[in-house]
Amino acid sequence: MSGWITALALRKALFLDRDGTLIEDVPYSEDPMAITLLPTTIPALKKASLSGYLCIIVTNQSGIARGLMTESGFWARQHRLLAMLLAQGIEIVDTLFCPHHPTAGVVPGYSQACDCRKPNPGMLVTAIERHGIDPASSYMVGDKVSDVEAGQRAGVTGILIEDRAAHAACPPGTPYYPNIGQAVDAILA
Ligand SMILES: [Mg+2]
Ligand SMILES: [Zn+2]
Repeated sequence: MSGWITALALRKALFLDRDGTLIEDVPYSEDPMAITLLPTTIPALKKASLSGYLCIIVTNQSGIARGLMTESGFWARQHRLLAMLLAQGIEIVDTLFCPHHPTAGVVPGYSQACDCRKPNPGMLVTAIERHGIDPASSYMVGDKVSDVEAGQRAGVTGILIEDRAAHAACPPGTPYYPNIGQAVDAILA
């Protein structure tokens, strides 16, 4: 008889949109130097990390499908952001991005429907599996309805920030906060 007790230590995550949520949205930018952190990003991610949330970025980057940027251009910018955060003691444990677009793409291989472009939940589902995350104790924070919906479809609580006007289009009961700082304060309260 086995005497083993299996303890499933599922972890909790804070899934984060990037553009317009953590940094100023500069559409289709590949410029590593053109990164402006939003005012509450650093304290919010510090608090979330210290409280045991895995911070994971999930970002739509259709500029790649549109031929306006490349995957390596995306990573050049993303790596600088990761370095800026790490310099503040914040670790982003994973970055997932969708390079596709179902209709507006011009680059072969990227111009297609996919399950990763938010509001589809593919990026979150992949991260949940990869890192042993419990969706029910996790959150997805973003500035668009598609962020909230991607979270919900993955079984994660979606929270809208920044764009008050978008709140009307969110699923009923979706929480809204003006910025990532207030969203994280609410999560940790
Ligand atoms: Mg955004
Ligand atoms: Zn995709």
